[in-house]
Amino acid sequence: MHIGVLALQGDFLEHVKMLESLGVYPKLVTSPRDLDSIEGLIFPGGESTTISKLLDSSQVGESLKTRPELPIFGTCAGLILLARSITDGRADQMSFGYLDIEVRRNGFGRQIRSFESDLDLLGISPPPMKAVFIRAPVIEKVGAEVTVMASVQYNFDGVDESVPVVVRQGRYLGSAFHPELTSDARLHEYFLQSVVGPR
Ligand code: GLN
Repeated sequence: MHIGVLALQGDFLEHVKMLESLGVYPKLVTSPRDLDSIEGLIFPGGESTTISKLLDSSQVGESLKTRPELPIFGTCAGLILLARSITDGRADQMSFGYLDIEVRRNGFGRQIRSFESDLDLLGISPPPMKAVFIRAPVIEKVGAEVTVMASVQYNFDGVDESVPVVVRQGRYLGSAFHPELTSDARLHEYFLQSVVGPR
């Protein structure tokens, strides 16, 4: 299976290791021609503002827009890049709008408020998955075509709310946390088998 990992900035090497643990040896994507033969792509965690700029200067962003059939899995900053709209985003920050969600960057608070949670995921067998959230985006709105695969209960200033943290819309999958920072490859496996696979 030919999978690409966007390697402009962020924790792309962790995604590479996770895919390798599943027997998939991905292509690092840094230029438009790297997109040619791939059947699926991962957007890593990192800094969405920086990745956005580099997508522009490398022209990978423009080329990606000509490949709307390509399945993409975005984690954290990668999820932000897939979103329809970014509350609190920078004016010059782009997103592809492939997932009909509205996200708030750093919505769980700053680095110091990073946390872990055990998640039950729709379509993934137990046990729960350990999810690591680092300056993660909060998904504030979800469109009708989006399936919420997991949520967390989070206390925002004394009010408990259920926040979607894994979402799928057709060939696009996003998680607000970093599965690539654990040794649990089930979400990557899901992407390969159930998002890229059936095509
Ligand atoms: N806060 C980062 C951003 O807005 C995302 C953090 C991450 O990917 N861990 O891009």
